[in-house]
Formats: sequence, C-alpha cells, structure tokens
Amino acid sequence: MIECRDIEFTYPGERFTLRIPEFCAKKGEAVALVGPSGCGKSTFLNLIAGNLIPSSGEIQVGEFRPAEMPVSDRQRYRLGNIGLVPQSFELLDYLTVRENIGLPYRIGKSYDEPAGLGERCQSLAGRAGIEELLDDFPDRLSQGERQRAALCRGLVTEPPLVLADEPTGNLDPENQDKSVELLLEEARRIEATVLMITHDPVLLPKFDRVVDMPELRKGAAS
Ligand code: ADP
Ligand code: MG
Repeated sequence: MIECRDIEFTYPGERFTLRIPEFCAKKGEAVALVGPSGCGKSTFLNLIAGNLIPSSGEIQVGEFRPAEMPVSDRQRYRLGNIGLVPQSFELLDYLTVRENIGLPYRIGKSYDEPAGLGERCQSLAGRAGIEELLDDFPDRLSQGERQRAALCRGLVTEPPLVLADEPTGNLDPENQDKSVELLLEEARRIEATVLMITHDPVLLPKFDRVVDMPELRKGAAS
C-alpha cells in the first residue's frame, strides 16, 4: 500500500533534512510510528499525504505517486484515499461537529455526499463517545472531544489509508483506549492501512508493527 524509497526532504531555508532509505506498509497493516519530538514523524506523514513534496526519492501509495501529480490531482488523491487525523485537529469553528465530520465529502467537487452519511456520522460519533455533541460547535468541546471529532472525520470516507498524528495525545487513558480501538477496529473492517504516530507505549501492542523513526532514517527498519 505504501512504498517509499530514498526519500529526502528539507524545509525551505531550514537545516532539518529527513532522509528515509526505505519504508513499506502492506494493505491492511496497522503501523505505529514512534520517536522523539522533532525527529520528523509529522513531516513523514505529510510527505505520504502529498502535503509536502520530497526533493528526491519515490513515494507510492496504492497506484498513486503524489509527488508527481499536479496540485489539483494531489488534492483529489488526498480526499479519495487518505483519512488524515492531524495533530492540531483543524476543525472548522463555524461548522457543527456533524458538519466537520462530513467535511471530507464536501471539499472535493467530485464528491457527492453519499446516502447514509448521516447514519455513518452518528455511528462513528457514538463509538467515539461524542454523539451528544454532534450539533454543537467545536469551540464548545474539550480538547479530547475535538480530537475524537477529528478521528471520526478521518474515518468517515472509509479511506484505504489512515494517517493519524498523535490522535490520542490529549485524551485520558480510558478515552485514549476507546479512540485507538475505534481507529483500529474501523480500519480492520474496511481493510485500511494505518500509520499512526504515538508517544504512548501502552498503545503499541495493539499494532501489527512498531517503527522507530530514528531507525527508519538509518535504514535499519522498514
Ligand atoms: P516530529 O513530528 O517527529 O516531532 P516534525 O516532523 O514535526 O517532528 O519536525 C521535524 C523537524 O522539522 C523539526 O526540527 C521541526 O522544527 C522542523 N519543522 C517542522 N515543520 C516545519 C516547517 N513548517 N518549517 C520549517 N521547519 C519545520
Ligand atoms: Mg509531530
């Protein structure tokens, strides 16, 4: 599902360079990505999502090579294939939680709201424990509730690949467990590949594989 080779990326004008000799993940595999703060985990997720473009190397996700696509195709690739759960949630404050969760269907012009979107939002929100907040606006939610709304939004399109950047960082242990269970259970059901950044060792046994970013950069793991 994901195949990366000899990737190199540097932020414009910055010293930080991320080099990854090789990384592969199979369809349906759940991979946890760990490593100290600042080692490039979020950058790597953004490269796979096509939000950042490497200066060299190959990134292939399913049949797509995001780095080689025109911007408009890349946007379509992202919407059609990736459930993104960003570290900072990025919920829109002028939309309700329900509208935020359904947002991936509204952004792309070619994506019509499917029949059953209402039920799907309801069901995901119920499993994330935020069904009573669906008609509220995000600014009324706690950090943990916002994070769970972002998780539901990442899963709503049943994407083949879910990229989650520390989606449980602001949750208490019970809700953290619930959120990761929801993510992994839903991913198994739709046979999605999951790449999730986490700092929490308690969560690691739930994944098929744990990849350490410093080792990945050395080329010692894939
Ligand atoms: P992690 O997610 O592992 O904590 P990041 O991928 O966010 O690490 O960051 C890796 C390095 O890139 C850090 O040194 C960080 O300061 C730098 N960095 C992250 N985002 C940007 C950016 N938009 N512009 C310049 N430097 C950045
Ligand atoms: Mg990060």
